[in-house]
Amino acid sequence: MKNYVYSFGGGTADGDGKMKEVLGGKGAGLAEMCRAGIPVPPGFTISTEVCNIYFENKNSVPSEINDQVLAALSKLEQQIGKKLGDPTNPLLVSVRSGAKFSMPGMMNTILNLGLNDVTTEGLAKLTGNPRFAYDSYRRFIQMFGEVALNIDMEKFDHIFDSRKHKAKVKLDTDLTAKDLQAIIADLKLVQKETKKPFPQDAHEQLAMSRDAVFRSWWNAKAVYYRKMEKIPDEIGTAANVQAMVFGNLGDTSATGVGFTRDPGSGEKVFYGEFLINAQGEDVVAGIRTPQPIDELEKVMPAAYRQLREITNTLEHHYRDMQDFEFTIEDNVLYMLQTRNGKRTGPAAVRVAVEMMEEGMIDKKEAVLRVAPQQLDQLLHPVFDSKSLKALQLLATGIAASPGAAVGRAAFSAEDAVHLVKHGPVILVRKETTPDDIHGMDVARGILTAVGGKSSHAAVVARGMGRPCVVGAGSISISERDKVFTTTVGGKKVTVKEGDWISLDGTTANVYSGKAQTNEPDPNSSYFGKLMKWADEFRGKFGVRANADIPRDAKAARLFGAEGIGLCRTEHMFFAEDRIPYMQAMILARDEKTRKKGLLKLLPMQRKDFAGLFEAMDGFPVVIRTLDPPLHEFLPKREDLMVDIARLPHAGAKMKKEMSEKYGIPVGKLKKHLPELLERVEELHEFNPMLGHRGCRLGITYPEITEMQARAIFEAAVQVAKKGVKVIPEVMIPLVGNAKELEHQRAIVERVAKEVLKDAGMEKLHYMIGTMIEIPRAAVTADKVAEYAEFFSFGTNDLTQTTMGLSRDDYTKFSKHYEDLKIFKADPFASIDQEGVGKVIEMAIQLGRKARPGIEIGICGEHGGDPSSVEFCYRVGMDYVSCSPYRVPIARLAAAQAAIADGHGETNRTA
Ligand code: ADP
Ligand code: MG
Ligand code: MG
Repeated sequence: MKNYVYSFGGGTADGDGKMKEVLGGKGAGLAEMCRAGIPVPPGFTISTEVCNIYFENKNSVPSEINDQVLAALSKLEQQIGKKLGDPTNPLLVSVRSGAKFSMPGMMNTILNLGLNDVTTEGLAKLTGNPRFAYDSYRRFIQMFGEVALNIDMEKFDHIFDSRKHKAKVKLDTDLTAKDLQAIIADLKLVQKETKKPFPQDAHEQLAMSRDAVFRSWWNAKAVYYRKMEKIPDEIGTAANVQAMVFGNLGDTSATGVGFTRDPGSGEKVFYGEFLINAQGEDVVAGIRTPQPIDELEKVMPAAYRQLREITNTLEHHYRDMQDFEFTIEDNVLYMLQTRNGKRTGPAAVRVAVEMMEEGMIDKKEAVLRVAPQQLDQLLHPVFDSKSLKALQLLATGIAASPGAAVGRAAFSAEDAVHLVKHGPVILVRKETTPDDIHGMDVARGILTAVGGKSSHAAVVARGMGRPCVVGAGSISISERDKVFTTTVGGKKVTVKEGDWISLDGTTANVYSGKAQTNEPDPNSSYFGKLMKWADEFRGKFGVRANADIPRDAKAARLFGAEGIGLCRTEHMFFAEDRIPYMQAMILARDEKTRKKGLLKLLPMQRKDFAGLFEAMDGFPVVIRTLDPPLHEFLPKREDLMVDIARLPHAGAKMKKEMSEKYGIPVGKLKKHLPELLERVEELHEFNPMLGHRGCRLGITYPEITEMQARAIFEAAVQVAKKGVKVIPEVMIPLVGNAKELEHQRAIVERVAKEVLKDAGMEKLHYMIGTMIEIPRAAVTADKVAEYAEFFSFGTNDLTQTTMGLSRDDYTKFSKHYEDLKIFKADPFASIDQEGVGKVIEMAIQLGRKARPGIEIGICGEHGGDPSSVEFCYRVGMDYVSCSPYRVPIARLAAAQAAIADGHGETNRTA
């Protein structure tokens, strides 16, 4: 029969670190540590497969598998020399969840299993420490009751707190054995009320706990977390049964968690927290504020030294930053977990770069270590220090996750979800729990009053890359009244729900009001280095930016763009000083009037293009000729009708307003407004997406294409004369027919020749190509390529037209489609490779057959999405183009695609 249970302990293990799929990350880590001779309490892992079998088998574990569990248990009992349920010498175990991918705190774990009324007395005698025995028992009843019997935790917390109150103690460690006994009695009363009897039989406890751990796979928060992190639902969790070690034996015992480097900044410092006389969950739960790990050196120097050695070994063994858990039982150290630590974007970059410099990993690995999307966190604004000075500093906490966040205070996850509809929010909580996950997800930043660097809020925020300040002890929060108060300069300050606050996750400062932000520096040391290495692997595959104005073009260069992949000329016409000319041009009924309007626009366009050429200094600039929707430039039909009706009764003030609104002199309103309405109605389209779109405008009004071509080439000449290298690429927004391109190309070519000849610059290199965003253009790409020296896929519209799906309407049912997994992902964020991708591949093949060497790229939003970039690389495009801020993301994604494609050696000299 197949093996479902894997033992570990005593320097050996059935499994190993590579078996995450079967053992889960936690089980694999425990096995690997055992093999490396690291002190780990022995135990066994019930594989992730059993979790699925359990659900398929009507929520029970088949007896053959159960037999394997019992065999592993008796092996464990022999090894330890104690027996589960033995009244005088009981074995105690934990049952721990753990899936292939880490899901911190989302599933359940039960500690101290094996205790009952009898074994607890046995444990008390055996250890000579009744307080410890009762403390362990009451913890077990609480955890088991909550996890296995679904009893409301609040009921237990209430009992615990009121006994603390009665005993007049603040800390749980100050409760005596007698207090704890009383608590146990009260806890049992609650159990009785719920009609879910507390099982005294240890084997029954074990089976029930194992099953409860499997069921915790479907905890609401676990489901939400998987969705957020794109972890599949099918993989299931393992259940780890492990002999207990006790951090709550007294002052020579402790428990803690830590990281081998700072997971917020990436700095190489030993980082973590611990609590004396406590058990695992206490550190994360924020019951007592833990001490910084350095303090451990003073109280338990030998254990501290050993911990440093072991964690250092672990980091070298895994060649990555480790996130670890440990417990010290009476001065003896045990490791309980190790895994590659979650980290922020800035930390990911710094750790990768420094590990490469330390010789732990090579360049290739360093480039693969950072998820392209994580760079997003380094590309966002930081607070402007001057503007911060003007704000009131409310509090300083502990910096848990860096970045600047401005938003309105929300005091519960539900409120955050609600408030975010009206603008950015910052979630303010005393502490967060896994149940707050949806609120943390929508918040720009997170602030808590208690808890340390490894508290739930800190860990989760770092994983999400959300700015976070924890442990801001000087604020006092009333979650019920939805306010927090603090004292600033002796005065009490109150922040209510909806008030603006600014939170700096790097300095841990919290301000009232809205701070200004500044652009980040993409070439700062670690980031700059990583990007340089990435470019070495990326090779010839290019990354350009979509930019319409010189300012964006400059930002794009700073972020490493190698050209402009799309300049949308219609965006230039929206400027206030241009709209009237644009309208005049559109509304003109004859060519002469239209040309007059165009003549006014020519110098403006020329100036814009010159700015782009200058900013791109030697890199290509793709300029698309006008692609309407024309109606966006015109006044609304409804507005016009209302104003025509009001005009006869309008006073001077209203007339003046109308005159300004439509650009018509007051005296001519009466005559021109109805004319304007008539023309607007003429131009009205039932479906502009499928109407007079793309180059259809240039076909009906060739003088527009002509003017734009003139502006482009005159600008090129002007800038080239200054000694700047210019590479214009004129892009015709083809609809679906090669003939359209033939027509438009002839105009552009004629104008280009004229302008260049007049300037004596016939040798200037330029290209004429087309944008492909309609399936017909793609499936006739061989014909299209006869007139195109380049293709650029406009994947936004190509997705809309191929899928028969409008981007704006999709949001109404996107949730259904993605929940039901009809769509793998939002097709407007990640290219639908199966459908739209196929159309693209076909066009590339046809295009290259007709014109070998044709330049091919993509200019839709998808150009900055890592999986789409990988696709573009794989199908043989020459470049991707995306928004300036996503250029580094695309560069890294392309480098990773190149490495995956076998470019193990750097193939470009930097
Ligand atoms: P999570 O995945 O939520 O961290 P864990 O299974 O790691 O859950 O356990 C929760 C806490 O209990 C951790 O601090 C862990 O170190 C501690 N713990 C788990 N098993 C044992 C054990 N056998 N002995 C002592 N502490 C344990
Ligand atoms: Mg853990
Ligand atoms: Mg379009």
